[in-house]
Amino acid sequence: MPKAFLIDTSRCTACRGCQLACKEWHELPANKTKQFGWGSHQNPQDLNPNNYKLVRFSERLDGDVVRWNFFPDQCRHCEIAPCKETGDLYHEGAILQDEKTGAILYTDGTKAFSAEQFEEIRESCPYNIPRRNEKTGLLAKCTMCNDRVHKGLLPSCVKACPTGTMNFGEREDMLKLAEKRLAVVRERFPEAMLADPDDVNVIYLLTDKPEHYHSFAVAEAPAGMDRKRFLAKLASPITKMTKNA
Ligand code: SF4
Ligand code: SF4
Repeated sequence: MPKAFLIDTSRCTACRGCQLACKEWHELPANKTKQFGWGSHQNPQDLNPNNYKLVRFSERLDGDVVRWNFFPDQCRHCEIAPCKETGDLYHEGAILQDEKTGAILYTDGTKAFSAEQFEEIRESCPYNIPRRNEKTGLLAKCTMCNDRVHKGLLPSCVKACPTGTMNFGEREDMLKLAEKRLAVVRERFPEAMLADPDDVNVIYLLTDKPEHYHSFAVAEAPAGMDRKRFLAKLASPITKMTKNA
């Protein structure tokens, strides 16, 4: 049974402690960023090879009420990972799945992917997560702090979160906690939902519609296609290529 995160956005205050803790643990360098001039407190503007985690800010008017939706974005550690399935077509083993924790891991072997192959890998991810370090050629994203988890420690973002937004443990326990919290949160936010809980090991509890967080909050299937079939299709490029041949 893999490990899983529950990210309960109803509790997030956008303090960005998780984002900083992630940078610190992975010893990622600072980025030159610009806070002004684009209408958001989100900083940096997007995930990048030096930010595996990004607290996304979204603000909207709901009638007379302003709603702030905060979304601590990161790799979902998919149960069947489309990025790995695509990567394996070109360099098998450059992207691994840890059988014990379920973490999807980008190894030094990802240097071997060309820029075009990286674009295919990025496009295969329904959550738009993979990034490429243009200097080293390495692909980058959340590692689940797999080194910490194997030593019995929590991922650094979970350890740093002061509000109970970030939770981590056995998948079964996280699913139970997610259902329990969903029942509570729905009393105040009737539209609250869990994002793709059957397919990923990073489960988000959302209080608002996914599109009110950001474009890739959930895996969206094209009109007319069942979402399960869509994810299976993304995760099976060989099947897709054979069928299209
Ligand atoms: S969220 Fe994207 S990058 Fe993460 S495992 Fe799934 S397909 Fe790969
Ligand atoms: S540390 Fe917790 S409360 Fe702060 S931004 Fe991250 S998830 Fe939200």
